[in-house]
Amino acid sequence: MTAATGIGWDSHRLVAGRPLILGGVTIPHDRGLDGHSDADVLTHAVIDALLGAAGLGDIGGHFPDTDERWAGADSIALLRTVVGLVRERGLAVAHVDSTVVMERPKLAPHREAIRASLADALGVAVEHVNVKASTGEGMGFVGRGEGVAALAAATLARGVAVEHVNVKASTGEGMGFVGRGEGVAALAAATLARG
Ligand SMILES: [Zn+2]
Repeated sequence: MTAATGIGWDSHRLVAGRPLILGGVTIPHDRGLDGHSDADVLTHAVIDALLGAAGLGDIGGHFPDTDERWAGADSIALLRTVVGLVRERGLAVAHVDSTVVMERPKLAPHREAIRASLADALGVAVEHVNVKASTGEGMGFVGRGEGVAALAAATLARGVAVEHVNVKASTGEGMGFVGRGEGVAALAAATLARG
């Protein structure tokens, strides 16, 4: 396997007295998203997409909303933790696509800031993160302005896990050009597998 894809979906209720945070960016609005953490619905969908692609379960399993440690949590920090878990498994983030489903406010003025914020947390160039905007066309919980939903898809590519790279040290035991301090030598072996 050289690549794996995961999907993520999340929704949160819009309420008064909360900030509206999407992809780590606070967006000026008269209401914000309610939840145990900062309720960053877009970042939560991206986290689930990454966990899905890595075969690591879901956000609720890693950061339960019954755990006081995650009360008011900065979801971008949770995303950074998940990117670390993905990398430990020898997987690299190749691309993330997403859609925010929100009646108002308009996402467009904030789209590039959100892309940059997510790309920074994901450790990828901004062109490997896409953020799209959609509405509920007046229908359902999104259309009535009761909440915001987000969808994400993540593609992971198999890289090299740290446990598959080894570095050893040796000396010349006083012999030869290394032993006489005339130089330094290095040896490496690489294994390639046909995929
Ligand atoms: Zn959520």
